[in-house]
Amino acid sequence: MPMIPFDDHDSFIWYDGRLVPWRDAKLHVLSHGLHYASCVFEGERVYDGTVFRLEDHNERLLNSARILGFEVPVSMDDLAKATHELIAANNILDGYLRPIAWRGAEQMGVSAQATKIHLALAVWEWPAYFSPEARAKGIRMKWANWARPAPNTAPTEAKAAGLYMICTLSKHMAEAEGFDDALMLDWRGQLAEGTGTNIFLAINGELHTPTPDCFLNGITRKTVIGLARKRGIKVFERAIMPHELANAEEVFLTGSAAEVIPVGEIAGEVGHYRFTPGVICRLMSEDFDHTVGKKVAIAV
Ligand code: PMP
Repeated sequence: MPMIPFDDHDSFIWYDGRLVPWRDAKLHVLSHGLHYASCVFEGERVYDGTVFRLEDHNERLLNSARILGFEVPVSMDDLAKATHELIAANNILDGYLRPIAWRGAEQMGVSAQATKIHLALAVWEWPAYFSPEARAKGIRMKWANWARPAPNTAPTEAKAAGLYMICTLSKHMAEAEGFDDALMLDWRGQLAEGTGTNIFLAINGELHTPTPDCFLNGITRKTVIGLARKRGIKVFERAIMPHELANAEEVFLTGSAAEVIPVGEIAGEVGHYRFTPGVICRLMSEDFDHTVGKKVAIAV
């Protein structure tokens, strides 16, 4: 698939209160957000012209900013209005929406009290995050060399740009070895998450997922927990050690971009595991597709 340069589209970006032509949505090179990662963002999916769980995403965006010590200058209502306006202006039915808030260039240095807070929203059409083949067989993951940090060493509850540094490094390492993604442990050696997804294990027909105490408690994760319980499938949120993957019949990941995606293999020093996507992956994927209003369920 050809790479689309993301600064070169024909449509509009919502930038600090108004729609601007896509190519004009620029920021100064001395922006604090760029130098010191004072930047938070969201990743949302548009299904049939509507963002799935928009309010949850918007709340998380404003809260991520507060965790980083700044207030995004927009109300929840105005943020929702801006989102609708942008989707309509760009005529997107099925897409990905990226709100981002960051500190500007008024002050350069670690201290940033005088910076202005900026907010931009962009939306574009979205193909599947992983290939149909990967979706059917399950993706291939490699253990990351980086661990999710302890909550007293990074603002782990925020969807903050700086926390993605180790995700990009881990994903690049996995891709360089032909894998689809990397799987991260946390600072204690417990199972944590993918580089942009949460993880679930099916053990004896029940679901187990790590307690999100040092990584994002994903909106898709919460949705899937609700859907599983509605089906009568028990869900346990607990500390999970990597060797417990040996007991799992199925493993899948969840995320706004990835949706529900089966895992076929996890390789690397921590241990080698193989899984065949089965009935749990299929049910959770179908239930999720149904909930977001997708017309065609993806067969797994
Ligand atoms: N963990 C990380 C690191 C992520 O980037 C994401 C995607 N936002 C998730 C988990 C899943 O979160 P959500 O389901 O809210 O998209």
